[in-house]
Amino acid sequence: MCKVISVSNQKGGVGKTVTCVNLGIGLAREGKKVLMIDADPQGSLSISLGFDEPDKLDVTLGTILLKVINDEEFDLSLGILHHDEGVDVLPGNIELSGLEISINGVISRETILKQYVDRMREFYDYIIIDCMPSLGLLTINALACADSVLIPVQASYLPVKGLQQLIKTIGRVKRQLNPKLEIEGILLTMVDNRTNYAKDVASQVYEAYSTSVHVFDTEIPMSVRAAEISAEGSSLYVYDPKGKAACAYTALIKDILRGGIE
Ligand code: ADP
Ligand code: MG
Repeated sequence: MCKVISVSNQKGGVGKTVTCVNLGIGLAREGKKVLMIDADPQGSLSISLGFDEPDKLDVTLGTILLKVINDEEFDLSLGILHHDEGVDVLPGNIELSGLEISINGVISRETILKQYVDRMREFYDYIIIDCMPSLGLLTINALACADSVLIPVQASYLPVKGLQQLIKTIGRVKRQLNPKLEIEGILLTMVDNRTNYAKDVASQVYEAYSTSVHVFDTEIPMSVRAAEISAEGSSLYVYDPKGKAACAYTALIKDILRGGIE
């Protein structure tokens, strides 16, 4: 059975894309068939996986969504690229930002991505969606087609307010569009345990959320190597296999494969 995980937080720069890369590739290293979808007009996931100029690609998520909207037939392999660490990738680019505006008047505008993702489920064990930093229609589409949401939270700033808004939106999507949507968990990223501030943020997140939302025991440490991978086009498992960030992502994947600990 395929599991669809959306990696979401409307705040930018919290580690969504780096988490997607290492989550998707990490699952592939465990023998899983993985499709990664770039649902951010900035194309950061595509770039991080080595597809350097997503705006020059002929077929991207934007193309596929337009075909869904227009009820056009297409081959399900359309637009799928392959990364040499064993994952398939549907890239995204700037076209998504125009599309987000134009789908406003479309019937079932919240479930366009779902129509595509549901057809792809039979080919994969995991589909990982990298969301853009907003709670706009594209993110709603990503939540509406997901089985779970993974929420990266940067440990170096007080995230409580933005998180409440995100969790409220997830609740609304669950009630109105996708009753089986679950929160996979909150993942603290860029944790610098040398600073008291990071410890404060971590304990605040635990205090505020751990009774209602799973907070992963695994934290992703601050790591220069992690920040470098987007320019390398590879995962941490190749770029810095023995590093603490790679080890943390490996531990996260073990958690997720176990089905999460409540
Ligand atoms: P988002 O997708 O939420 O905008 P990114 O994954 O692009 O966030 O990360 C934001 C920035 O922080 C990027 O420059 C990235 O390279 C860097 N970064 C991500 N994870 C880490 C980490 N564990 N340690 C240090 N830098 C990181
Ligand atoms: Mg990103």
